[in-house]
Amino acid sequence: MARALYMDDSYLKSWNAKVVSVTDDKYVVLDNTAFYPKGGGQPWDEGSIIKDDQEYKVVYVGKFSGNISHEVDKSGLKEGDKVHCELNWERRYTYMRYHTASHLISNILYKRADAKITGNQIEMDKTRMDFSMLDYSPEKLRDFVDEANSIIEQDLPTTIDYMTRDEVLGKPELARLAVGLPKNIKEFRIVRIGDIDEQVDGGTHINHLKEIGKIEVTKTVNKGKNNRRMYFILK
Ligand SMILES: [Zn+2]
Repeated sequence: MARALYMDDSYLKSWNAKVVSVTDDKYVVLDNTAFYPKGGGQPWDEGSIIKDDQEYKVVYVGKFSGNISHEVDKSGLKEGDKVHCELNWERRYTYMRYHTASHLISNILYKRADAKITGNQIEMDKTRMDFSMLDYSPEKLRDFVDEANSIIEQDLPTTIDYMTRDEVLGKPELARLAVGLPKNIKEFRIVRIGDIDEQVDGGTHINHLKEIGKIEVTKTVNKGKNNRRMYFILK
């Protein structure tokens, strides 16, 4: 199985790798990769795989039966090729900022209003979060986002480490997520924001909250207590 380099270093932008397999001339598996595969509300990374003077553009990355598969725009790569990889860093970094921002917002929604996140999708300029919240008003939501922005000003660090299944089960707010995961997973990746938030998560995150910038709500949709939605952008 490929080593997912983004798990321990979200800031790795370029690296060397070896081609493990190529399917249908365009689906490439590498021995190690920092390309993030679509999942957990975060879009896939784009960038290039370079062999000699040839550049293969990575147009999609997904995880299929445990393997991270890179779809490239042309044929030519072969098993055993030594390649150099480069992320489209602007795209990835934007998604890192949005991903950490959405953890921060969900933390406040949960703490202040017992709201549960029911869905989220990070997208350039129209990132959305869906949540259930009993006593809702747009004004309240604005207060929560103000609180998120003031926490960003404190510039708390985000950190990554790992917990065993038993440790996760000992934390009710994490265990809720963990029980649904396959029994063969023994180690869970935990993303923390200072000492205010921790979540079981496989995504990429910024190191310091100030990198988020400022959260601005662009639109809210309200279709009942189990069906609220907000869109936000980062300034
Ligand atoms: Zn996440």
